[in-house]
Amino acid sequence: MKATQTSFIAMASSSSVKKRTVKPVKSRSDRDLIFGDLWEFDPAPESADPKLKERYDLFIDGKFVAPKGRKYFDSINPANEQKIARIAHGKATDVDAAYKAAKKAFDGGWGTMPGRERAKYIYRIARLLQDRAREFAVAETLDGGKPIKESRDFDVPTAAAHFFYHAGWADKLDYVAPGRKVAPLGVVGQVIPWNFPLLMLAWKIAPALAMGNCIVIKPAETTSITALKLGEILQDAGLPPGVVNIVTGFGDTGSAIMTHPTAAKVAFTGSTEVGKIIMRSIADTDKKMTMELGGKAANIVFDDAPIDQAVEGIVNGIFFNQGHVCCAGSRLLVQESVASQVLRKLENRIKVLRVGDPMDKNTDIGAINSKEQLDKITELVESGVREGAAMFQSACKLPREGYYFKPTVFSNVTMSHRIAQEEIFGPVLSAMTFRTLEEAVEKANNTAFGLSAGVWTDKGSRILKMSTELKAGVVWANTYNKFDPTSPFGGYKESGFGREGGRQGLLDYCKLV
Ligand code: NAP
Ligand code: MG
Repeated sequence: MKATQTSFIAMASSSSVKKRTVKPVKSRSDRDLIFGDLWEFDPAPESADPKLKERYDLFIDGKFVAPKGRKYFDSINPANEQKIARIAHGKATDVDAAYKAAKKAFDGGWGTMPGRERAKYIYRIARLLQDRAREFAVAETLDGGKPIKESRDFDVPTAAAHFFYHAGWADKLDYVAPGRKVAPLGVVGQVIPWNFPLLMLAWKIAPALAMGNCIVIKPAETTSITALKLGEILQDAGLPPGVVNIVTGFGDTGSAIMTHPTAAKVAFTGSTEVGKIIMRSIADTDKKMTMELGGKAANIVFDDAPIDQAVEGIVNGIFFNQGHVCCAGSRLLVQESVASQVLRKLENRIKVLRVGDPMDKNTDIGAINSKEQLDKITELVESGVREGAAMFQSACKLPREGYYFKPTVFSNVTMSHRIAQEEIFGPVLSAMTFRTLEEAVEKANNTAFGLSAGVWTDKGSRILKMSTELKAGVVWANTYNKFDPTSPFGGYKESGFGREGGRQGLLDYCKLV
């Protein structure tokens, strides 16, 4: 370590710091200023081998097969724009082959297999994923740009936790809908986005498998690698061929999966715009569907909140995973009397966030997933400046290659600004103030979305009141971005419908008989 940024305590005990003209700490505001000094760590690159192949084929009927059209596309590392692998472009004919394999597997016994037997396969998948956790974390970071500490400490372990949790349900399905028997739906089609590639895959596959369904799934085009690596685990776990089929490709592949006549249910996670296209395309069918769409969550900070804790929660809520989080706390509503204090602390905090190489274990904010996403963030941030909001950006230096964006906080934002209404899906926070609880609720609910919210206050009764009034699927209190497989997740309004996780998530993959 060259020197340390670290905490106030570490700095006070360093002799080099004593020589500097650091004034004695008198008040909280003095402490904030000292915290604003950023010292650099030596690079600490993760060294595990991601075991990447040069070319990835489709995973259909338990085997890796070339796409019928023999077309492949490049997957790049957004941290340096270099190609890391070629990925199969599956077309409608490949999707058709995947559905045929899935139907055969369903009729061939997966759907009627006793739950305790299905559980063994799902446990095996969870254990094998744990065994290869570091390899998967590195592959996820290389392909998607998220910091290694997130893929290592959050994405991969939480994905494994979803398989463990649902393995535990597979022999207890009589308790999913008390008093009723449940049965699988058949073959389900699933399409997922790029922000949590492996985790979204686990959210989709694990409950469907536990319930006895067979699956055709497509990952996002920029992040297909960990899905196809999971195909290797499915083979090693001895999962019967055809139970899970992974077809990579673009929007046309996704559309073929969602509209295929064999799909008894479709489950989509992605943007509201594409969700609406899918809903329109299957409106005249009897397919069941669940939609996990966009969000514009508010973190609401009352004047009695533990301010330092709230600032950490706000930072975690919007800068975690570069803000590529559907439930990101992309709006801040702060009570007027503490607004300047909270904003000053926030600015000091983002000055010391480390932006850069996602493979470095010290990195807080990695690469933006794609050039398209970077352009979208840039355009929305420019609109914020144009429309009159005040922008604060960290002075950090960005790497010359790759897609990066500085952590950004807008203040003086009004409800009509685009940055207050549209999903930015980047490390950009839009801050507004409020005076009363009623005003906070009105502003928080004043969006087309309703996925999540955060409330920061010392008062339990206020938390209960807010969680009743807020139109959001998840309300975190004095914390943010906490996930657990036992807890259902999903939206209101244009954030979609259906739940993933918990008993409620299983109900979306069965019929009552
Ligand atoms: P997206 O553009 O909607 O894409 C999502 C997936 O749909 C991708 O696999 C995409 O393929 C595919 N797709 C594109 N057009 C399609 C079509 N016409 N029919 C079927 N599939 C199609 O979303 P994204 O940019 O990947 O992800 C970001 C969005 O996901 C954000 O809005 C975020 O809020 C949302 N999200 C929601 C949740 C939740 O739980 N509510 C969780 C995570 C993310 P390509 O990749 O090839 O385009
Ligand atoms: Mg990539």
